[in-house]
Amino acid sequence: METKRLNVDINVDNGKSYAQAVDLLNNGEVVAFPTETVYGLGAVATDEEAVKKIFAAKGRPSDNPLIVHIGTFEELENYVDHISQKAKLCMEAFWPGPLTMIFKAKPNVLATSVTANLDTVGIRMPDHAVALQLLRQLRKPVAAPSANRSGKPSPTEGIHVEEDLNGSIPLILDGGITGIGVESTVLDLTLDMPVILRPGGVTKEMLEAVVGPVSQPSHTEQNSGKAPKAPGMKYTHYAPNAPVYLIDKEEKTIAMALETLHQKGLKVALLAPENLSHLAADWFFTLGQKDTNEEMAVNLYHALRSCDATTADLVLATTTSTEGVGAAIMNRLEKSAGGKWYSADIQI
Ligand code: AMP
Ligand code: MG
Repeated sequence: METKRLNVDINVDNGKSYAQAVDLLNNGEVVAFPTETVYGLGAVATDEEAVKKIFAAKGRPSDNPLIVHIGTFEELENYVDHISQKAKLCMEAFWPGPLTMIFKAKPNVLATSVTANLDTVGIRMPDHAVALQLLRQLRKPVAAPSANRSGKPSPTEGIHVEEDLNGSIPLILDGGITGIGVESTVLDLTLDMPVILRPGGVTKEMLEAVVGPVSQPSHTEQNSGKAPKAPGMKYTHYAPNAPVYLIDKEEKTIAMALETLHQKGLKVALLAPENLSHLAADWFFTLGQKDTNEEMAVNLYHALRSCDATTADLVLATTTSTEGVGAAIMNRLEKSAGGKWYSADIQI
């Protein structure tokens, strides 16, 4: 299959490109498009065969449910049983935006593979001109996970989607670099106390200012069986080919690590804030200005992907505080590294 990548930024006349995307979706095909978080790979969420093509193109396990994207508030009640007061407050405050809310699903409306047979569904309204235009022209719900091969870092540029899915999808709407760079927050609102199943663009602090206490179980708590889960969080994610090791962003610690690794004859790609670019790594990929979690979120997946164009034996990635969007960054980095931290005696 030939994969077209069409530029739909605001400077081009893009009516025909949207029309093509809408036609493809109406005909049971998948289309990649930008959102404010990362690029999504969409299919009409009520079309079982179309949704299956998402799982096939990504190589995604079938027990990992998809987020449904909608373009208007009114649509929500078509797909969910009950909209609680807290959900209404969250919608008002954060939609369109990077917040996915989990509701009890109306039975037999959405394709069963969207919800992976759960009785709940995750829904959000993206805050991106291209995504909203597409959804509003289509006037149907779109199931869309990130548009990468399963396990790889999520795409933050149209070209990343092409790298992963060229030949297996018909169309990429290319709207440039995405704004936030990490995926949406997944918030379970089916319980009295809302639970963050996946940290993301909307932080715990932002949510609590609107609905009061929200719980954010740690990785260990989520895996202990006591807390509710986002099924997708158990899979390896966001990983470049070379193994990733986490390291503190202390200049001295990193300099010593590089020396030790070089003595062992290993080539190192370093992902770190800009102020550490002078260190003697074999490749350096910036995570933005020092101490700015927002910039780190924007740069993270690009930097992780860039490692695959090197012959590095390992990747050292600096960590950050879990304040604000830092919680989402550390969640992704820990998964990317499989929880591994650098130590002088590591064996590659
Ligand atoms: P992705 O589509 O790759 O951004 O991943 C979507 C995330 O949302 C995964 O971690 C899913 O497991 C989670 N998710 C989607 N729907 C549900 C649901 N109904 N209940 C719990 N988690 C969900
Ligand atoms: Mg994903």
